[in-house]
Amino acid sequence: MNLLSRLIVIILFAGIPLFAAKLPNFVVIFCDDLGYGDLGCYGHPCIQTPNLDRMASEGVKFTQFYAAAPVCTPSRAALLTGRLPVRSGMCSDKRRVLFPDSAGGLPQKEITLAESLKTKGYATAAIGKWHLGHLPQYLPTNNGFDTYFGIPYSNDMDRDVAKAPKYREACKQAKIEYFNVPLMRGTKELERPAQQETITRRYTEETIKFIKTNKNQPFFCYLAHSLPHVPLFRDKPFVGVSNGGIYGDVIEEIDWSVGQVLKTLQDEGLAENTLVWFTSDNGPWLIFETHGGSAGLLRDGKGSTWEGGMREPGIAWWPGKIKPHTNHAISSTMDIFTTCLTLAGIKVPQDRVIDGVNLSSILFKGGKGSRDTMFFYRGEQLYAVRKGPWKAHYITRSAYGNSKPEKHDPPILYHLGHDPSEKYNLAQENPKVLTAIANVVKEHNSKLVRGKNQLNDRIQK
Ligand code: MG
Repeated sequence: MNLLSRLIVIILFAGIPLFAAKLPNFVVIFCDDLGYGDLGCYGHPCIQTPNLDRMASEGVKFTQFYAAAPVCTPSRAALLTGRLPVRSGMCSDKRRVLFPDSAGGLPQKEITLAESLKTKGYATAAIGKWHLGHLPQYLPTNNGFDTYFGIPYSNDMDRDVAKAPKYREACKQAKIEYFNVPLMRGTKELERPAQQETITRRYTEETIKFIKTNKNQPFFCYLAHSLPHVPLFRDKPFVGVSNGGIYGDVIEEIDWSVGQVLKTLQDEGLAENTLVWFTSDNGPWLIFETHGGSAGLLRDGKGSTWEGGMREPGIAWWPGKIKPHTNHAISSTMDIFTTCLTLAGIKVPQDRVIDGVNLSSILFKGGKGSRDTMFFYRGEQLYAVRKGPWKAHYITRSAYGNSKPEKHDPPILYHLGHDPSEKYNLAQENPKVLTAIANVVKEHNSKLVRGKNQLNDRIQK
């Protein structure tokens, strides 16, 4: 056998496709409680985010990008399934997120982005905060991810009541020993309490290792930072570096991390075959004052269905492939699911409602995309609906504290173009808009099948 024949045999036996188009890699960087106004490229006057600014200028910077819920657990369920959390049962009026004593998690019948990509042979890793169930059957490794490294729920949980002061004080003092959260690898506990000062750096190192190890096959990396959720921690090189105080330090370390990930992709020659997303699960936690972020000119923050609770920075980066621009179309974290599947040549599941839409036309050509509506749920209740530039609130409630729900009949109505801060109610002058939105709600409710609640049950002791 001559050399050429041998080479062909090796290629055939190794299963290396000679001419098949290369599947794109996906990296989703998901922050926790980052506000719309927290990045330089979204107008923050003090916090410096040169890497994210560059990512935005080289990619698509979305200005109307929404998380699917104003708190962690439901928002994450929606990101990974492309579905409103009310459909999977991953939201609740009683317990708004999962806790260390929760018995539930993402139901097996839900299809995650990782599970879908596995059907095309993707290597998959979840690195960081999970918060979709910490019992073994709910962990990332049982939801389509080959590996997991991270804190399985929020970094403010498992407070050690013997050592720590009251909750809010403990969060602000931010001592490692106050929060006895585990750091896990796979399904095993690696470290407890997790040494949170180095957590952003270690998530970054894991991500880089995963990318380098899997550079010769398609991969999906879900990097879900535990920060800037309180308590705030950062590694030594970032202590006191930001004009934005401790919160600024934390964001600047995350920005550094983004820079490291993009640099790795470029150094390894992978950048032109990798779509990277950057966004967050919900808005800033305003009750923590300077330890919480900012929603910029948007109203309210984490926990509420005002814009500040759910509108997020949203950036897509894929050098040489997508058209760099700022985009004002309505878009959502749920669209990441549908877009990635489509780009990988995978059909979105047909046996269930998928709320995500394909953003490919926006990425490659710019323009308006196909999403015209956005639903704003607080727990299990529909509080508001956006259609085009208009947003009608049926119920409003401030984020946290002692606020009470306020019902509006007729609903209150804002034009988010003319009035992004939701200050001026225009319901009276626009009855036709209210009717159009009422029809959207009617249609939505008529087809809604609510998933069995996963957040209320506690582990039996
Ligand atoms: Mg969050």
